[in-house]
Amino acid sequence: MLAISACLGGICCRYDGKNNTVAALQQLVADKKAIVVCPEVLGGLPTPRTPSEIVGGDGFDVWQGNAQVVTKTGENVTAAFKAGAIQAYQELKKHSIDYLVLKANSPSCGSQLIYDGSFSGIKKADVGVATAYFISQGLQVITEEEWLVNQER
Ligand code: SF4
Repeated sequence: MLAISACLGGICCRYDGKNNTVAALQQLVADKKAIVVCPEVLGGLPTPRTPSEIVGGDGFDVWQGNAQVVTKTGENVTAAFKAGAIQAYQELKKHSIDYLVLKANSPSCGSQLIYDGSFSGIKKADVGVATAYFISQGLQVITEEEWLVNQER
């Protein structure tokens, strides 16, 4: 059993109300071989919602209190992002999951690249808030891009 970002499994939970469906991952959910989690929705944020980026660091810095998650309109949503990560982790524990495929580039789910906090489309090598929490709990996180490459091998 693995867990995937809900938007990869076909759930329209992205900030813009759309999804990032990867058919092969969606099939794993249909076959009950994967569960979906959306940390931002679990944190109480609405869909659609104003896009957010981490300002001042990465997901680990957020947990250390050295960076914040801020919407494009300047609202501080750090608490919701942290609450959602913890809530998602509780779901993972219920299912004894230690391996996740999470959406690349997201301020929550990113594990290779995230946007740099300038809302200008520039990415940097860092991890999102939920990913940082999961990694700190000993879980393994890869992107859907890495997962798809592994499937082709
Ligand atoms: S928080 Fe993660 S699961 Fe939810 S929409 Fe963003 S990338 Fe997808």
